[in-house]
Amino acid sequence: MSNKTVFGQIVSGEIPVKKLAETDRVLAFYDQNPQASVHILVIPKTTEYANVTELAAGDPGLLAEIVQVAKKLATVYADGDYRLVFNNGAGAGQTVFHVHAHVLAGDLTESSAGG
Ligand code: AMP
Repeated sequence: MSNKTVFGQIVSGEIPVKKLAETDRVLAFYDQNPQASVHILVIPKTTEYANVTELAAGDPGLLAEIVQVAKKLATVYADGDYRLVFNNGAGAGQTVFHVHAHVLAGDLTESSAGG
């Protein structure tokens, strides 16, 4: 059994997803449990960072790339406006410890905080 997180398995191709955007360092796909009419996850391909705090400290350029990809997706799949959520730590609702941005757009509700 793989000891990778589910997102590590998506990056390696062990779990197939429909890729909505991809760069050399970033991948985006639909959240399987959408909390808004548009709910996309943007993840770095590296498994090095468990959460956004680690990513911001370790590779701020990669964090900026995630934001750029989120903006492009919001433009393609909604009107360009979007909510960007990083759950940071189990107590905040994080369940997958491979940093990921929830891109929420379209029909947003107050409960659409990701996770
Ligand atoms: P978080 O609670 O912030 O860690 O978010 C993890 C998110 O990953 C949840 O919104 C899940 O619905 C989503 N998720 C888990 N496994 C998959 C998968 N195989 N494909 C797409 N989304 C997933």
